[in-house]
Amino acid sequence: EERSRDAELKSEELQAAKEDLEQKARELEQSSTYKSEFLANMSHELRTPLNSILLLSEMLLDDEEHGLSEEQKEFSKVIHSSGQDLLNLINDILDLSKVEAGKLEVSFEEVFLDEFTERIERQFAQAAKNKKIDFTVEKADDVTPIIYTDEQRLQQILKNLLSNAFKFTEKGSVSVKIEKANAKETIGCPLKGQSDAWVKFSVTDSGIGIPKDKQRMIFEAFQQVDGATMRKYGGTGLGLSISREFALLLGGVCKVESKEGEGSIFTLILPNLPDGYPSMAGFEVHD
Ligand code: ADP
Repeated sequence: EERSRDAELKSEELQAAKEDLEQKARELEQSSTYKSEFLANMSHELRTPLNSILLLSEMLLDDEEHGLSEEQKEFSKVIHSSGQDLLNLINDILDLSKVEAGKLEVSFEEVFLDEFTERIERQFAQAAKNKKIDFTVEKADDVTPIIYTDEQRLQQILKNLLSNAFKFTEKGSVSVKIEKANAKETIGCPLKGQSDAWVKFSVTDSGIGIPKDKQRMIFEAFQQVDGATMRKYGGTGLGLSISREFALLLGGVCKVESKEGEGSIFTLILPNLPDGYPSMAGFEVHD
């Protein structure tokens, strides 16, 4: 009899502990939702005054009539570019908090890779020229001419990878290659499917490289290789975590291979999803 009373007590204790845990999980989820909502509202409230700062400093710069002095022009430029930096940061925080809250929407559409390639080339031609770095964008002949994905998110990921490539490269080259991905390369993607249904975008640079032990953490929010790099190069440490989250949302993955002092290769592997994410014809979700 005593033994069964013991067992009863134990099961009551277990039940209480379980309820306690469930309550804690609900509280955590709730506070995480509050955090994301707070960030989203805050970002919105910050953007409104910032837009005035940007617009008015631009007007000052364009104002021929009142002729600003050189020094005044210089100050207006600083106001404008600092405002732009702040706006980029706010947009990044907003994107990341949306992903965390599961509120970032993706819309799948056809992306013509030839046009896409040309657009990237144009976008970074000036950066390449300014730094006297060789820049090539190349699409393999056997890769699909159209990939179904979210064009805006794809664009954002490549912009992040390419801005980094140019930022951390002083001489040599930056190149983008678009080709088929092989089955092994799709490891780490949330989806699995036939290997010819994947596209690989690689961004290769001959820059400073990333030490092996830092290659994982740079994909975490606000993480940079070291404080000194941050001061020298600026930036927020959000670009890669956004790229990684976006890649996952599109069913793919973003990875790095790099050697310190030699350069880096960032790859983005994406599934071609002609029927969009909900149906995912030809693909399965990994367990
Ligand atoms: P940010 O560039 O704003 O610092 P990211 O998340 O894009 O933020 O990158 C995080 C860090 O990863 C960078 O600060 C840098 O230390 C490292 N990194 C990213 N891309 C490269 C690259 N192509 N070459 C060398 N280091 C890089």
